[in-house]
Amino acid sequence: KKRRKLSLDDFEKGILDSNISVLSQAITLVESNNPEHEKTAQALLQRILPKSGTSIRIGITGVPGAGKSTLIENMGCMLCEMGHRVAILAVDPSSSVTGGSILGDKTRMENLVKQPNAFIRPSPSGGSLGGVGRKSRETMLLCEAAGYDVILVETVGVGQNEVTVRSMVDFYLLIMLSGAGDELQGMKKGVIEIADLLAVNKADGNNIQPARLAAAEYGRVLEFLQPATQGWKTKATTCSAFERPTLEDLWKIILEFVETTHASGAHDGRRKDQSIQWMHSMIEEELRNRFLRSEKIQQLLPDIEHQVANNTLPATSAVYQIMQEI
Ligand code: GDP
Repeated sequence: KKRRKLSLDDFEKGILDSNISVLSQAITLVESNNPEHEKTAQALLQRILPKSGTSIRIGITGVPGAGKSTLIENMGCMLCEMGHRVAILAVDPSSSVTGGSILGDKTRMENLVKQPNAFIRPSPSGGSLGGVGRKSRETMLLCEAAGYDVILVETVGVGQNEVTVRSMVDFYLLIMLSGAGDELQGMKKGVIEIADLLAVNKADGNNIQPARLAAAEYGRVLEFLQPATQGWKTKATTCSAFERPTLEDLWKIILEFVETTHASGAHDGRRKDQSIQWMHSMIEEELRNRFLRSEKIQQLLPDIEHQVANNTLPATSAVYQIMQEI
């Protein structure tokens, strides 16, 4: 199916009118690595930037099987019923390697897909982690300009992903399970430290009591950690993705967080820091790309690598030699 090529004005108007088809095409543009697309995408972002930034941005992580998809689906439906417009994005840098994607399989959210006020976008394939981070962030801005007032960013708990998502969102929800040790859950202390709320999921049936015990234990651990957000005490609670009242409770905590951080100025401060941090990480990425792509470096590197490998040139001297060339 061939689409008419949209002009910059078409893109802008379509997004501000919440036209889903135009929004999807704009995201495809933002995700593209084609220099011509990148140029149009940047011009478009420049235009919609004043209309962005108004949503509650929520990061959600947890190991596979913790219940992220189920919780996002049911919470997403709940928020739509409350009158919100919800965009669900996925950040999964590993998907480009494994070929799988955490949100690639939309059938896992079959009720949410039917909600007219929900927009689901699977993870972009990016190559580098930095690329995925940039694309996801810009996608988030487009969704905000299109009127989505809650953005849920899902990621799997494997190291670097969480840090990338933390730098994009206001609130960070960590979904845990009872019964599995921290090691088993693949959760390092670092991940707990960046969370604003720990929710031990699957607190239903026979698992209510163990879940509460686990939450209490995490609560004690949190006493010793620096909170992720200035002026907000990170909480540990329980929830069941299947039980609406527990999801309502999670939402209440999120609203309390929003109110607290808006009043204290922590919200504005974090958003500003995030923008600056984002710019710096893109500078680093761009510098690295330009460096590695430069003809001179590509000619020089094999020989220098060879010398370093054979101990005829110390690594530090090699770096010095290369730097002389740029
Ligand atoms: P994800 O890999 O983190 O996205 O986890 P899923 O949402 O796919 O859930 C993994 C499994 O746990 C599925 O079989 C779900 O039905 C189940 N599950 C998710 N949330 C709950 C919950 O709150 N209670 C119970 N009992 N099962 C759940």
